Amino acid sequence: MPELPEVETVRSVLSRDMVGKKIKTVAVTNGRVVRRHKNAKDFRERTEGRTVKSINRLGKYLIFGFDDGTKMVAHLGMSGQLLRAKAAKDPKPKHTHIVFTLNSGGELRYVDPRTFGELFVSTPLVDGQAVEISKFARLSIGGDGLALRAAVPELAHLGIDFIEDQIGWERFAAILRSRETPLKAVLMDQDIIAGLGNIYADETLYNAGILYDRSAESLSTIEIRRLHRAITEVLTDAIKHRGSTLDDEQFVDPEGRAGDYQNLHQVYNREGQPCGQCRAAILRVIVRGRSTFYCAKCQN
Ligand SMILES: [Zn+2]
Repeated sequence: MPELPEVETVRSVLSRDMVGKKIKTVAVTNGRVVRRHKNAKDFRERTEGRTVKSINRLGKYLIFGFDDGTKMVAHLGMSGQLLRAKAAKDPKPKHTHIVFTLNSGGELRYVDPRTFGELFVSTPLVDGQAVEISKFARLSIGGDGLALRAAVPELAHLGIDFIEDQIGWERFAAILRSRETPLKAVLMDQDIIAGLGNIYADETLYNAGILYDRSAESLSTIEIRRLHRAITEVLTDAIKHRGSTLDDEQFVDPEGRAGDYQNLHQVYNREGQPCGQCRAAILRVIVRGRSTFYCAKCQN
C-alpha cells in the first residue's frame, strides 16, 4: 500500500503538472470510490469546472485545493494510482474508476483494482463548529500540517506527519511514554503518527536499532532520540528515491515510473538475506496477519 514517500512522490509529480489546470468534465464509472458523496453526480458537480490551485499531502492523503476554496481529498488505499494521460485516446488501464478531463487536453485517471481507495470533496464546517485537531498533531511547532488539518476537517484526526509537521524529540518522547502498546503498532497508528505503514515502520525500527514489539513506554531517552531521527531520515531518503515499488504491488507515479527505494531496503522483504551491518539473516515474523522484518542482532 502506498505510504508517505509514495504519496509524496505522486504529489510532487502532480503539482509540477496539474497546478493551474482546469477540470472540464469528470466521469465516475465506479461509485464506490466516491462513497462519501450521496452519489457520483454530487462528486461531479463539486469538481467539474474547478481549477487546481495547489496540491498538498498529509499522511497518506493528497489534498487538491480548488480556485473556489474547496478541497478534494484522495486516498490511494491498497492499490490506487493517479495517472496522467496526454490524450483521451491513450489506452485506459483496467479498473479506471474516475477520469478527469482537463481543459488543456489530457486526463487525470484514478485506477484502483481493489477499490479500497477513495476521493471526496471536503465538507467545510458550518459557522460556530470548531475543527477538533488531533492532540498529537497539536504538539507540532511548525510546518504546514496544522493549517491543512484546519482546512480539511475530515483529516483533523491525523497524528504527527514527520515531513509536514515539526516535533522535537522531547515532545515525541511524551507521546511514546503515554503508550504501553508495541512500538510498531504505535508507529503505524495513523492517529498518532501519520504516513508510516508496514514498509517504513520496519525500515525505521531497523535504522533505530529497536525491536518492533518493545512497549513504546519502555524506550530509553537515547532510543527515543534514535527513533525520532530514524523516522525523518528514512522518510526523507525514501522520498528522494521516489518511494518503493515491490514485485507484488503496483506503485508507480502519475507518469508510470516506478520508485527505487526498494533497492535500499535494509529489512523489508529481505527474509533470509544478510543484514547489511552484521551479516546475520534477516528474520520475518507474522504479527496480526502482517509480516514484520527485522535483524535479531542489530535490534533490541
Ligand atoms: Zn544485523
